[in-house]
Amino acid sequence: MFSSQEAVIEKEKRYIMQTYKRQRIVIKEGKGAIVTDFFGNEYIDCVGGIAVNVLGYCHPVVVAALKKQAEKLMHVSNLYYTEPQVKLAEKLSEITGMAKTFFCNSGAESIEAALKLACKMTGKHNFIAAEGSFHGRTLGSLSVTFEPKFRSAFESLLLKSVKFVRYNDAEAIRKAIDDDTAAVILEPVQGETGVIVPSAGYLKEVREICTEKNVLLILDEIQTGFGRTGRWFGKEHEGVEPDIMTVAKALGAGFPIGAMLAKEGIEFEASEHASTFGGNPLACAAALASITVIEDEKLVERSRELGEYFMKSAHDTGINSKPIVKEIRGIGLMIGIELTKPCGEIVEKTLERGCLINCTAGNVIRLVPPLVISKEQVDRVISVLSEVIR
Ligand SMILES: *Cc1c(COP(=O)(O)O)cnc(C)c1O
Repeated sequence: MFSSQEAVIEKEKRYIMQTYKRQRIVIKEGKGAIVTDFFGNEYIDCVGGIAVNVLGYCHPVVVAALKKQAEKLMHVSNLYYTEPQVKLAEKLSEITGMAKTFFCNSGAESIEAALKLACKMTGKHNFIAAEGSFHGRTLGSLSVTFEPKFRSAFESLLLKSVKFVRYNDAEAIRKAIDDDTAAVILEPVQGETGVIVPSAGYLKEVREICTEKNVLLILDEIQTGFGRTGRWFGKEHEGVEPDIMTVAKALGAGFPIGAMLAKEGIEFEASEHASTFGGNPLACAAALASITVIEDEKLVERSRELGEYFMKSAHDTGINSKPIVKEIRGIGLMIGIELTKPCGEIVEKTLERGCLINCTAGNVIRLVPPLVISKEQVDRVISVLSEVIR
């Protein structure tokens, strides 16, 4: 398609808005937890499309489901019923414990739907979000996103009715609630801000406060969903049931799809919300196949085991005691290595040695590999990281 890698990189610069700081490799294909670049070099992928590719690349069950569905029905309006959409909603209800689903196409869209629904159900307008939160880039989702560098150019367009309180401090939420608070929105584990795992009991306490104050709890499980943290959903670590929950990223195992789910009685009525592509048959077929594979291959348990294995090995190799490593933390296969300096150079050196890692919040290496990654591949990643960090 292109004669050289440089040609791709040059044209990207010429024709695509420069919103991403990309690594200088062109990825051509993937299999399992491995991706291959323009020259045929292979990399162990610990980015996984940022917690999207739970099954790695080209899982045969998902590929077969997509092929089969594409040959039958790729898209039809939501003015009609389709079987994959209904089947997926039933499956989601079963694995999340929520009553009903609204389908959309991305994480940010699911947050938009959640904010609208909370406002409509309560007739109130204020939201409480956490410092360090990330919920997306659209105006509503950006309004509940903390980081100034994402917001500052657009402040005038954002909701004024959002209060940010310290993450992992339930009392701060109690204090911030007022008569016009519609909902509290939280990530069970903060992803973008550097894999921040809250203390045991935090979410439970927030749930109790929301119930007591009659405020809705929205859990953003866009990054923590589908086995990432060693449970199907992050909320399960605390046995907490939100009123509204959002999922996307890993839901379609690489096919774009998002969903907002809610408890019985919390729902939109006709005309209050809609999405042309939401719950598209192809997307739903991919998601259904992916959930089946997660179940059949016991990937939730695998995430838990490999996460523990990773932590143990990282300590055994002494990565945590290197001077530039401040802390290694994580839950399941959602791991953060916080450094005392920016991690750009480490990302590059790791890439040169055949592993893809992501740097978030400037100085945190975030590892969110496919849940199908092998033990040997984890060993290799650890040995590369320990070499590079040294
Ligand atoms: C990625 C992410 C989003 C935004 O999802 P998009 O699909 O990029 O819109 C929202 N919340 C969390 C927790 C995320 O990790």
